[in-house]
Amino acid sequence: MADPLIRIDNLTKVYGMGETAVHALDGVTLEVMPGELVAIMGPSGCGKSTLLNMLGALDQPTAGEVWVAGENLAQLRNVDRFRAQTVGFVFQLHNLLPTMTALENVEVPMQGQPGGSRSHRERAEHLLELVGLAGRAGHLPNQLSGGQRQRIAVARALANDPKLILADEPTGSLDSQSGEEILALLAELNRDQGTTIIIVTHDRRVAQSTQRIVRMRDGRIEDDHRLLNPLEEDLRMLARSKLGQAILTTGDDSLPNISEEEETVIRRVLERFTGGEPSPTEEHLDLA
Ligand code: ADP
Repeated sequence: MADPLIRIDNLTKVYGMGETAVHALDGVTLEVMPGELVAIMGPSGCGKSTLLNMLGALDQPTAGEVWVAGENLAQLRNVDRFRAQTVGFVFQLHNLLPTMTALENVEVPMQGQPGGSRSHRERAEHLLELVGLAGRAGHLPNQLSGGQRQRIAVARALANDPKLILADEPTGSLDSQSGEEILALLAELNRDQGTTIIIVTHDRRVAQSTQRIVRMRDGRIEDDHRLLNPLEEDLRMLARSKLGQAILTTGDDSLPNISEEEETVIRRVLERFTGGEPSPTEEHLDLA
């Protein structure tokens, strides 16, 4: 099996000292495999942003370790290079440079990186196309909508082809349709490019595009829940239904008139989706 892209071991972060000390993270342990799309959810102040900042080497832990792509972040020899090459950031407020065009904003993180200015430009053009904004390359941020600006921020995060995208409330400042589009874009990047993505969000719709929800409370992980894909969810529901249970319980006379082969096939499918904790997605989301 592949190595995890992220390994967080007993991570603790305390801000301040003495009576006013805040335990922003209180012993967080988590692994994320390459190619995962993980949503981190939980009430305001529970430590989500602190965790994300640690993953991006933007802040130092009080105790514990963070490994990203095989590197222990406490021992990075070149933090700037790690931030430029291994991770891409997308924040709630996209922080685009107001006097630069969309294209130039996407090129910024490439400065000082391998490749000449021409290949940087070509890559920036390709990335704008990828986020559906090829036609806006020459626009300044204030000539674009909030959703478009966030798309540019996503393209910029991809500039150096990072292994990991860290997105902190990427839909927080957007109207609901633009928010949905950004989530869909991130899910698409994850699916098509295999980029590992961690999204800190309050946005319940994220569950439609993610396979894993990590729920935090008071600096700890309260729940780490892997979602099945929609077909798997449906099959699990069917397996738990009266009909599913009747098929799974051999010799039930009330079954519709189906052949032995049909019954065997259906039973085989259903058996794969029995067991485990009941986990209807909606029920889970109501905990938010
Ligand atoms: P979330 O992202 O879940 O809203 P944060 O990670 O921002 O939570 O914050 C976790 C806790 O740490 C909060 O109680 C917050 O007030 C505190 N905190 C965050 N950053 C700092 C800081 N720089 N100095 C002091 N306390 C902080």
